[in-house]
Amino acid sequence: MTDPGGAAPTPSSDRPLFVLLGAVGAGKGTQAAALADDRGLLHLSTGDLFRRAIREKTPLGEVAQGYMRRGELVPDEITVTMVAEALKEPSADAGVVFDGFPRTAAQAAALDALLAESGAQITRAILIDVPEDALVSRVAGRWVCPHCGTPYHITEDPPRVTGICNKDGTALTQRDDDKPDVFRARLREQIPPMEDVVAHYEAAGRLSRVDGQGTIAAVAGAVRLALLESSAG
Ligand code: AMP
Repeated sequence: MTDPGGAAPTPSSDRPLFVLLGAVGAGKGTQAAALADDRGLLHLSTGDLFRRAIREKTPLGEVAQGYMRRGELVPDEITVTMVAEALKEPSADAGVVFDGFPRTAAQAAALDALLAESGAQITRAILIDVPEDALVSRVAGRWVCPHCGTPYHITEDPPRVTGICNKDGTALTQRDDDKPDVFRARLREQIPPMEDVVAHYEAAGRLSRVDGQGTIAAVAGAVRLALLESSAG
């Protein structure tokens, strides 16, 4: 008997499911967006989902806001539930690039279990690898216009006049959490759980490491190559 409600087709269990891993400042978000665009996949950023929930003042947003303000991770259960909901959307049917998730070993295990329910698994996890000192100098060079929000970088994308916004002439400022000492402290907190996630995919034989020190295009090329070499391309 056919389902009179016309149930939605189940997404194929072999749709591409990529995880992009990397420390803050490594360019993971940029590469996740590029890969998703290139392959026509959903770019699923948990940070973006939380920010949207906060903007839309949903109950999830209210809970997430406190953690995010304090710079803490949102509890695993809340995060995994949100991802499970996002994966049910038709936009995820063609495949997904996960960005900012999983961030802990528990989230990685929960994601495996969730995917296994439909016979799916992560196709490949890609670590965008950038040494700590390089991350610090990258992030320490970031300045932003406090008025219009335009970002600049001292060496890679400097304003026409040092310290002044091209668009409205406002003096540029640096985000407190981009200052070297604060940033190093953030890294020291974030790297150990990320290494657990890296170890999780390495143990499963599903990790590719890509050198993240290069132009955006060069790193995107290295990601493509790594996927080809792992036969996930
Ligand atoms: P992001 O934009 O990825 O840097 O995320 C911004 C903030 O959202 C983080 O500092 C966390 O508070 C929260 N967040 C994003 N992804 C996760 C996750 N996978 N687990 C827990 N909290 C997360």
